[in-house]
Amino acid sequence: MSNSSDQEFLVFGAPVIGEEEIAEVVACLRSGWIGTGPRVAQFERDFAVDKKLPHVAAVNSCTAALHLSLLAAGLEPGDEVITTPLTFCATVNAIIHAGATPVLADVNPVTMNLDPARVAEQITPRTRAIVPVHFAGRACDMEALMALAAKHGLKVIEDCAHAIETERHGVGAGQWGDFSCFSFYATKNMTTGEGGMVAAKREEDIAKVKRLALHGMSKDAWKRFGDDGYKHYSVVETGFKYNMMDLQAALGIHQLRSLPRNWERRARIWARYLEAFADLPLTLPAPVEPSTRHAFHLFTPLIDAARCGLSRDQFLEAMTHAKLGVGVHYLSLPEHPVYQTRFGWRPEDYPHAMRIGRQTASLPLSAKLTEENVERVVRTVRQILHRLPGFLPRRGGA
Ligand SMILES: *Cc1c(COP(=O)(O)O)cnc(C)c1O
Repeated sequence: MSNSSDQEFLVFGAPVIGEEEIAEVVACLRSGWIGTGPRVAQFERDFAVDKKLPHVAAVNSCTAALHLSLLAAGLEPGDEVITTPLTFCATVNAIIHAGATPVLADVNPVTMNLDPARVAEQITPRTRAIVPVHFAGRACDMEALMALAAKHGLKVIEDCAHAIETERHGVGAGQWGDFSCFSFYATKNMTTGEGGMVAAKREEDIAKVKRLALHGMSKDAWKRFGDDGYKHYSVVETGFKYNMMDLQAALGIHQLRSLPRNWERRARIWARYLEAFADLPLTLPAPVEPSTRHAFHLFTPLIDAARCGLSRDQFLEAMTHAKLGVGVHYLSLPEHPVYQTRFGWRPEDYPHAMRIGRQTASLPLSAKLTEENVERVVRTVRQILHRLPGFLPRRGGA
């Protein structure tokens, strides 16, 4: 009997790093300029062209991108910002750090994205912005959300951390909002190690983001120390230290070019999982809506203990025991003590996000997976769901 004990642990969300990235990082190191400089400028130009975004600014994380976008949107204390309970804590922390009050609206149980009808119910005279998250890479109903925003004069800040390849009715993720924020964290669809990008519709907004990303200085360091003579800078705002380095952009320039190939690979893995698990008592991700493009960032089946005969946590434990890295995206935000204490949030007030958060398990979906890796995931999931001996979770165990 094989329970995979002879095999390597399959790291969840492992990035695909090519020889081009390695050569570019080495060239950057040898160039003597590793901070914010020419490679960041090139990465920004390439990204803007590739994603058809008019104005962009590279930063050191999507969390920073969200924080700066919310600040540049002009939020004031007491302003309310509506977002989804089914997201990473950074989405809501950024709203809090920008001085605003986060307000949650439940998700649609099928798409797992913000439900525009629930958003409409949460709008008050203090609402200033909506932060939709294109969960797992599936486009939000942006037509409905943009209509709500227009009607109530709200800013829209898209969290595109999962959505770099996402499109809906010919419009790409990041092209709807006043601001949009991308992540290049190690597990995302492309990576710079750590990194992020802000896109803005208006040039003055991106200028403000760039200033805030570098201490609030009026000129960036690369321009100051370039070969056209020393220039004094002025500090015009109390900014932050959120700039991306050339070392990171060296990765980004080539990761960007690999997006189509890696997306194709994940699309094939996605299709294989759908086919291989069709007869299991899992709730599989909903079909991709017509005229949309899913980024295939996360494959998130739901495990209902009553139907599957084992709990989500037992499933996670069995997968880990079989040396397969899995994830949870996400326990709904009201499950976390800090938000319960601060805002009085209760999971049961957002029942769809609560149930998804308690049942969801993310399977490996990295483009780095080999055919053999994928078949090992398929085999192991089937064995666990059929509760074969050797694949059962240890009794009572966490
Ligand atoms: C990863 C992620 C972030 C944060 O991105 P970082 O680049 O790690 O700061 C924000 N929102 C969502 C939905 C994410 O998945």
